[in-house]
Amino acid sequence: LFIVFEGGEGAGKSTQVRRLAELLRAQGRDVVVTREPGATEIGERIRGLLLHDRPAAATLTPRAEALLYAADRAHHVAALVRPALARGAVVISDRYVDSSLAYQGAGRTLPVDEVQWLSSWATGGLKPDLTVLLDVEPEVGLARVGARGAGADRLESESDAFHERVRYAFLDLAAADTGRYLVLDAGRPAQSIATEVAERVGELLPP
Ligand code: C5P
Repeated sequence: LFIVFEGGEGAGKSTQVRRLAELLRAQGRDVVVTREPGATEIGERIRGLLLHDRPAAATLTPRAEALLYAADRAHHVAALVRPALARGAVVISDRYVDSSLAYQGAGRTLPVDEVQWLSSWATGGLKPDLTVLLDVEPEVGLARVGARGAGADRLESESDAFHERVRYAFLDLAAADTGRYLVLDAGRPAQSIATEVAERVGELLPP
């Protein structure tokens, strides 16, 4: 089973990923927690370039940025996600293809169908069984991230309009495929979000 968490900055994805993993492990299940970008050794280097080397990242064109995310994803899927799914593990990923559709597509205004094509090519068409979208207003999410001080200047360098486009791109994706998405208001208490996620995942898992 392949479960993905998506959402804007400060949506609380990492907390929910951790809670779900703890719950499933307590049930004795084989769980692999992963993320994009940066789940593999190569991916970690790509993440460093994209997120922690601001001068270098600032010179990237949107297409070059999209290709780096796609390279990270291609390697991630082949080296980690597919082998884990093949042995029957539950894979929980913090971000996946929808992040590229939202950030590189809507955010950077690359044609979304082209980013979709690139992503399908990179993954060999692997789709999540469930995508949990934690929806948060950009001001609220960015304030949460700012409070943690994580990557604050990189994020603040993007316009409010960029973060708005990203948010609505995620919501549009979810609205177009309601069966595969669980959309939750990230402003709710973490415990109540975790309970709802657990219920939905429980419906998908074999007993
Ligand atoms: O979720 P996390 O905080 O690890 O995301 C790191 C950053 O990577 C996000 O702030 C987002 O701006 C960026 N990102 C992106 N395009 C992706 C995935 C992540 O711009 N496809």
